[in-house]
Amino acid sequence: MITDQWLGSTLSSASTRKKSAFVSRLMAWGKDNQRDFAWRHAKDPYEVFVAECLVQRTKASQVEPIYREFLKNWPDFISLSKATHHQVTSVIRPLGLEYRAKRIRTIAKLIVHLFGATIPDDLNELKRLYGKGLGDYTAHAILCFAYGQNVPVVDTNVERILKRVFSVRARKDGHRDRRLWAFAAQLVPRGKAKYYNWSMLDFGALVCPAKNPLCSSCPILEICDYGQDRIKRTDKISRN
Ligand code: SF4
Repeated sequence: MITDQWLGSTLSSASTRKKSAFVSRLMAWGKDNQRDFAWRHAKDPYEVFVAECLVQRTKASQVEPIYREFLKNWPDFISLSKATHHQVTSVIRPLGLEYRAKRIRTIAKLIVHLFGATIPDDLNELKRLYGKGLGDYTAHAILCFAYGQNVPVVDTNVERILKRVFSVRARKDGHRDRRLWAFAAQLVPRGKAKYYNWSMLDFGALVCPAKNPLCSSCPILEICDYGQDRIKRTDKISRN
């Protein structure tokens, strides 16, 4: 069993040099490879909120047409708060996971009721929506992508990259682990959080997925604990 103490000491022992090498390599990769989605040009926090609700547990590339239609039907929190369950379900049905229709309407109503139809730019305020369909990931995504704050986003992709590169052996749902969030926060380059977080998400999808990561051509291989072990294991097998 991995103890809290063990996890904590592992996180703090990652060297500053390794952390900064990781960030600069990731950012360099992002410069040439970052994906372009409509919501990455969004200026309105409502649009960022809608995108983050729609991409959860869904391939981002499938979301774009639904996202556009959704905004055409409900351009703000007030209109969304008045939509019926059937109306919202009929638009997001192609994405599956129809429970999201209830969740997105519930949050919209709360934002109208509690915050005058403007989503807060403060984490403590956003926490008032926790348990109603909003969690750490979406709250941080709103703070970063809508308000430009220097905060990390940690989903299962980001969790996997941090575990592999820095040998963090957090529990299985490490993206809910406060200490993993604290470690992720140390890496976020000030003033470039949006760009960095997008690079992380895209890197997890394109280079370092759960199955068959592209270690041999990965720009982070040199400093990645998991990748180095994997290459050594493959060499050993091919020599035998
Ligand atoms: S070397 Fe492999 S495991 Fe490490 S970050 Fe790259 S793709 Fe992921």
